[in-house]
Amino acid sequence: MAQLYPDSVQRLITELNRLPGIGARSAERLAFHLLAAPRDEAMGLALAIREVKHSLRACPRCFNVTDAPTCHICRDAERRQQILCVVELPRDIIALEKCGVYDGVYHVLQGRLDPLANIAPENLRIAELCRRLTAENIEEVILALNPTTAGDATTHYLAAALRAQFPALKITAPARGLTAGVDIETIATSSLAAALRARADWAE
Ligand SMILES: [Zn+2]
Repeated sequence: MAQLYPDSVQRLITELNRLPGIGARSAERLAFHLLAAPRDEAMGLALAIREVKHSLRACPRCFNVTDAPTCHICRDAERRQQILCVVELPRDIIALEKCGVYDGVYHVLQGRLDPLANIAPENLRIAELCRRLTAENIEEVILALNPTTAGDATTHYLAAALRAQFPALKITAPARGLTAGVDIETIATSSLAAALRARADWAE
C-alpha cells in the first residue's frame, strides 16, 4: 500500500501509538490535532516532555522521582522518619499521598518480582532498602505493594528477607479487603485510606 502520510507525520503517529491506551486511530486523531494546533501549543507539549525527561531523576534516598537533589517527601522535616512505606513505583506514592493519612517516608522498589520478565530481587531496590534499615532509625516498614499475584509474591519475599535480617523491625501490610488483582493507583482513595489505617502486622 502506498504511504498515506509524509514521513514526519507517520513518525508522530507511531510515537503516539506507543503511549498506553492510545490505539492506532487515537494516535492518528492526536497527530492531526497537533498538526492543526497553533505552533505554540504543539511546541509547549514537546518542550514539557523534553523538560520532564531532562530534569527528572530518582531520589537517591527513596527512589521517588524528583527534579531536585532529593525528593519533596525526603526533604519534608515534618514527616515521621521512623515509619517507611515500601511501594513498587513512584505513581503508587501519588495514590497513597492522595489518601492524606500517611505521614511517614517511602521507599520505591522500581518494580516487583516477575520471573517471567526476568525481574529478580537484585533488579529491585532491595539492597538499598536494607541499607536504609541499617543506617536509619526505622521502626516500622509497611509493605504496600499492589495486591496482584506478582505484588503478593514480592511482599512474601520481602517480608521473609527483612524478618531474617532485622528481627526487631515491625513489618505491616495494608488491610486486605482491597479488591484483589487491581493496582494501588486504581483503588478508590477512601478504600486505600481505610486499608492503610487498618494495617496489620505481617503474620507469615
Ligand atoms: Zn526521596
